[in-house]
Amino acid sequence: CGIVGYVGRRPVQELLLQGLRKLEYRGYDSAGISVIAGDEIDSVRAVGNLDALEQAIDGGDGGVALATRPATTGIGHTRWATHGRVSEANAHPHFDTADRIHVVVNGIVENYMALKERLAANGAVFTSETDAEVIAHVVATHFAGDLVEAVRAAYAELEGHFAFVAMSLDDPETLVGVRKECPLIVGRGDGEQFVASAVPAFLAHTRHVQVVENDELVVLRRGGVDLLRPDGTPIERDVVEIDWDE
Ligand code: GLU
Repeated sequence: CGIVGYVGRRPVQELLLQGLRKLEYRGYDSAGISVIAGDEIDSVRAVGNLDALEQAIDGGDGGVALATRPATTGIGHTRWATHGRVSEANAHPHFDTADRIHVVVNGIVENYMALKERLAANGAVFTSETDAEVIAHVVATHFAGDLVEAVRAAYAELEGHFAFVAMSLDDPETLVGVRKECPLIVGRGDGEQFVASAVPAFLAHTRHVQVVENDELVVLRRGGVDLLRPDGTPIERDVVEIDWDE
């Protein structure tokens, strides 16, 4: 339902929570964030509202790690369940078997059953009942050090209407997003970049936005953003300044 992502220099946890708060108006049943913290990804998810997530961060096991290690790359999600009941295990971010690739997903992956069966037959361990989790596993099967190439290859296997953002422990200062029928938009900063399912998520930090069109990939790194077609061709897209009130 709601997606936020950030790569930059500031502590990411607060920025993700703030962004998710701005997307609360859309409604959701659970929420979560994952951040790259040194040599592991720390992830906290909770059923209920963002207060429940913040409590899990401050008081839960994951919270200790989140609070004590500086992280500047991360993704967050508010979920409106479509496939799989409302539970902590079904909340996003979802991750691959090795826990090195995390994704947040809006919308629906139509062919998830077929993908799940094939991946599981090849040893993938699934931890949720969602359609969304397959994306983390499909990206992982294509990952050979370059998250952009892995997401591009994964995208070719996915059917449905969705938007997602992926991050990898092995390419830790990069976020890769995809837009297929569901909204995704980029906020451009100075040495930091935002991505979200809607502008309010980052409006407190930048008014410089870059639209991601349907059937496009977006690559965010501290220093800049690249837009690509699924075949890898770069796309030129103006950065526009919006004058919305926060
Ligand atoms: N289909 C996904 C799920 O049920 C994503 C739902 C959403 O857009 O929040 O987990």
